[in-house]
Amino acid sequence: MANQDTARLQQLDRDHYLHPFTDFKSLGEEGSRVVTRAEGVYIYDSEGNRILDGMAGLWCVNIGYGRKELVEAATSQLEQLPYYNSFFKTTHPPAVALAEKLCQLAPAHMNRVFFTGSGSEANDTVLRMVRRYWTIKGKPEKQWVIGRKNGYHGSTVAGMSLGGMAPMHEQGGPCVPGITHIRQPYWFGEGRDMSQDTFGRECAAALEERILELGEENVAAFIAEPVQGAGGAIMPPESYWPAVKEVLAKYDILLVVDEVICGFGRLGEWFGSQHYDLEPDLMPIAKGLSSGYLPIGGVLVGDRVADTLINEGGEFFHGFTYSGHPACAAVALRNLELLEAEGIVDRVRDDLGPYLAKRWASLADHPLVGEARSLGLMGALELVADQQTGERFDESLAAGNLCRDLCFDNGLVMRSVGDTMLISPALVITREEIDELIGLTRQALDETARRLIRWQPAPQDIATQEKHV
Ligand SMILES: *Cc1c(COP(=O)(O)O)cnc(C)c1O
Repeated sequence: MANQDTARLQQLDRDHYLHPFTDFKSLGEEGSRVVTRAEGVYIYDSEGNRILDGMAGLWCVNIGYGRKELVEAATSQLEQLPYYNSFFKTTHPPAVALAEKLCQLAPAHMNRVFFTGSGSEANDTVLRMVRRYWTIKGKPEKQWVIGRKNGYHGSTVAGMSLGGMAPMHEQGGPCVPGITHIRQPYWFGEGRDMSQDTFGRECAAALEERILELGEENVAAFIAEPVQGAGGAIMPPESYWPAVKEVLAKYDILLVVDEVICGFGRLGEWFGSQHYDLEPDLMPIAKGLSSGYLPIGGVLVGDRVADTLINEGGEFFHGFTYSGHPACAAVALRNLELLEAEGIVDRVRDDLGPYLAKRWASLADHPLVGEARSLGLMGALELVADQQTGERFDESLAAGNLCRDLCFDNGLVMRSVGDTMLISPALVITREEIDELIGLTRQALDETARRLIRWQPAPQDIATQEKHV
């Protein structure tokens, strides 16, 4: 694509397109990067640059770009039956087949699925179902849902209320009532004055404290991601989930495990719940479900909740026009079949995850890196001004954004959350491509360090300034 086409698209983009999670004005000034095609783990922009997509789109293109099988699944379904709903005692083959496949892959006690169009809608469904469940059970006062600060559960009103993203709450007006948040198990950010083990237990203890504060009789559910994704690829300390399980075993509340990112192989198992040995009552899913080729989400429902909804509930007044959309379901099914047939999830657990862990950890020697952590094919780097103390850069330097922009210019997509750099590449990445990712990351860190050091007054400059005062 010629330069003027890029400029024209950028102008139209600026004039008409309000992007998600974007400062519209500053994007307008800078202009968007125009991504035109993709193959494997690479995206290509309108200027012909090849960029290694270290984020698999938005944590979703698990199977990689360019899979013809998914295109064929979509086209043949669109020809056969492009749309029909399942509201009025109707169903269709792709939704049924996908439901069966999902329940086969999910933990044994999960045998039902409710389809949605996205992860946010899945979490709206969670809130509806959790409250419905307790009402059917004759305990309508069990309303409170406990989430976690800095958790992410989507951007609809219920999704952002369940999530614990303070900037979203500040803009969203009053959140949905009856939702409260406890501390997150973010050891590097909040717990370095104690061992990982102790910190993990303290964060789990916060759940019990909140249950007791609210009164067990008022608490409906606890919702959490196995590993916080958008919050910063936060792998909890090893002690965290076992301690949370102990707390949950004492009280009659539902467990909702948001698998939108961790599901479908990211951590080396089909679901994060399997990695951490959790028994969720509800699991919202999306993203990797279709590898992002078409939008689809859902909620996997455990027997306890499903049996109640089915046998005691009557009509559940909830659903979406696109619940179980035939083409989306057909693509998702084909995606799961390919992930399974090609042993992609096992390869993440047995080969690529451990390989990435080793290579990623090697970045910890870089002076800008306070911690390099990974699990499966998800990784994070904590950028710090002082490696010894873990002191952060001044916020005004926006070190994370700087590093992200330098990565992009250098041929790598990494995401930044504050000064935490994130990767979550397609699960089909090869060892060679992981090596390339590590090399590009190191280059970007070097360049980031050069720029940041230029911004920081050197000791002699401070001395000179003092003389002038
Ligand atoms: C992305 C995400 C969502 C929201 O999914 P959308 O499809 O963007 O609505 C919900 N939960 C988690 C954990 C996510 O990462």
